[in-house]
Amino acid sequence: MSIKTGIMGGTFDPIHYGHLLLAEECRSRLNIDRIVFVPTGSPPHKRNRRVTSAEDRYAMTLLATAGVLNYSVSRTEVDRRQPSHTVDTLREFIAGGVAPEDLFFITGLDAILDIATWVDYKLLPKLCTLVTACRPGYPVEGIEALPQEVRENLKLVEIPQFAISSTEIRERARGGRSIRFLVPHLVEIYIESNGLYK
Ligand code: NAP
Repeated sequence: MSIKTGIMGGTFDPIHYGHLLLAEECRSRLNIDRIVFVPTGSPPHKRNRRVTSAEDRYAMTLLATAGVLNYSVSRTEVDRRQPSHTVDTLREFIAGGVAPEDLFFITGLDAILDIATWVDYKLLPKLCTLVTACRPGYPVEGIEALPQEVRENLKLVEIPQFAISSTEIRERARGGRSIRFLVPHLVEIYIESNGLYK
């Protein structure tokens, strides 16, 4: 029997409830059996700012998903010495036995709208189904402007608006403001006890 696997890729600096909501909506709408969170190791698209260490981001992702049925976290990009390219991650899952027709790559709309800048992006639709979440009022014209091979492979899942970002959480933490209920409780404790984003 085939097992549908959803890869939820992200920098997760830090992971927050918006990421979890996105993964869960895609899981339930597309009947995905298991979600694997894949924190980036060295994200090539974030070279303009200092990113928190991969180990801290991996630890926070573990804490955020601990005990959630059918959720797990992969170290594949954290342990990779090269920059995190999605095409390599998909190939690793396929080499591990997941068929491309059972593999879903989940990410947000802004990331997908940039996909033509990703390494070997034309291969991605051959390796998986791309899934993106649209928040209310999303730019339909942006999707229409995507390369044809991406557009034809893309599944859109509408999710409720949850206007929170990792940037805002970092700024709140830096300014000593509360991040409670924006991130899972254990992630909040990890950020505070490790002095992240100060
Ligand atoms: P991120 O900032 O940690 O966010 C992960 C995803 O969560 C994003 O796509 C984002 O959507 C979504 N999200 C954030 N806040 C949300 C909210 N409140 N509600 C719903 N969704 C929310 O990760 P990222 O740095 O964008 O990276 C995303 C993935 O793209 C990673 O797997 C990365 O490796 C991959 N990527 C690959 C390449 C490459 O292969 N060369 C290049 C760039 C990125 P939005 O995108 O809409 O903000």
